[in-house]
Amino acid sequence: MASPSHRRSLRKRRTVLVSAAAVTAAGLGAAVFVMNANAGAVDLYHQTLAAKDGWASSGTGTTGGAKADSAHTFTVSTRAQLVKALGSASDTTPRIIKIKGTIDANTNDAGKKLTCSDYASGTGYSLTSYLKAYDPSTYGTSKLPSGTQETARAAAQTKQAKNIAFKVPANTSIVGVPGTNAGITGGMLQIQNVDNVIVRNLAFSATEDCFPQWDPTDGDDGNWNSNYDSVTLRGATHVWADHNTFTDAPHLDSANPKYYGREYQIHDGALDITKSSDLVTVSRNQFTNHDKTMLIGSSDSEPSGKLRVSIHHNIWKGIGQRAPLARVGQIHIYNNYYDVTTLNGYAPQYSINSRAKAQVVAANNYWKVPSTAKVAKLLSGDGTGSIAGSGNLVNGTVTDLVAAYNAASSKDLKTTVNWTPTLTAGLESSAKSLPTSLATTTGAGVLS
Ligand code: CA
Ligand code: CA
Repeated sequence: MASPSHRRSLRKRRTVLVSAAAVTAAGLGAAVFVMNANAGAVDLYHQTLAAKDGWASSGTGTTGGAKADSAHTFTVSTRAQLVKALGSASDTTPRIIKIKGTIDANTNDAGKKLTCSDYASGTGYSLTSYLKAYDPSTYGTSKLPSGTQETARAAAQTKQAKNIAFKVPANTSIVGVPGTNAGITGGMLQIQNVDNVIVRNLAFSATEDCFPQWDPTDGDDGNWNSNYDSVTLRGATHVWADHNTFTDAPHLDSANPKYYGREYQIHDGALDITKSSDLVTVSRNQFTNHDKTMLIGSSDSEPSGKLRVSIHHNIWKGIGQRAPLARVGQIHIYNNYYDVTTLNGYAPQYSINSRAKAQVVAANNYWKVPSTAKVAKLLSGDGTGSIAGSGNLVNGTVTDLVAAYNAASSKDLKTTVNWTPTLTAGLESSAKSLPTSLATTTGAGVLS
């Protein structure tokens, strides 16, 4: 099939040939020609983050498993194969893992589908008993659940976590094989306390917690909280997440029931970057059909000097909030396309939140905003975070989002930051064409 990506790839090759010919004709020496030819020959699995492409290019850069030998190059199609290929989380040998097709994290080693009941089996947990035990009318609202049913819930959750959380070691590239609908459904890639990881061309879907925990002290009315992000970075450095798609589908939040009057939320983040993670580039992904999409920093007291993240050329469409929610770090958000039209029941609350003294530069992004939405609601903050940057468009018109937000809020965003982005390869000075150009150049499935 002559897919658009295939055509693009052909076009790219022709461009290399033409420029090589032009170089030769101009008598500019063979060295340039050889360099160009080699650059074109690097396959998808060995590609590394380009120089100056965001914070992950800082210092040693992000090469993932590019140096893997053949013994550490794997093609996997099942959960068990993926677990084996990942090996030990402390083994730093470079490795390339090619994911072919969609891996269902909720399967056992023999490939049999596992359900929530399978994880609950033997723990004594049942939702009916749990709801009875911690009903606010009898249990109250002042303390977290504890006792038999909470212990059973935690045990069942641990069983699921062991099955669906995939710990990624340092110096690893995990890349979807083009043309195979490559991805992980129901799982969480856990990139924790490791350096140098690349995640590309993967569709992440249906990351669901079978055992949400009730917290009556969370917010005014309590909340049901879940444990898993599709990709979670905790204390991770040099991570490049590129050309992936994130979605809750097929079970959307609109299908969540309510217990104790609160949504029984089975989803957590799509891509969360927490616990002093640092030097991360998030490029050309699609985030869709999700509520709490990207957390940068999980607490206002995360130490300063980390959480440096570049977020560029992504599509955010049909997401509720946290695109991202930024704390503490120096964060560059540019050339993204935000479509804040309500989609499948996901009603946008805000796009970017800057709090806990976050130093956000948001520039040259494009917001598509329906006539019913307020521009003042595109941002959020706690009065200590900054958002600088210009060239942001709302429906094609240059708009000062911070001024609009500050005019309507008592917790003003600060408008100056303590840094100037320099790792900005590929930055486009105009956001005008992003709605069109990003439609065919983002998400899983367009790379070849
Ligand atoms: Ca999370
Ligand atoms: Ca104000």
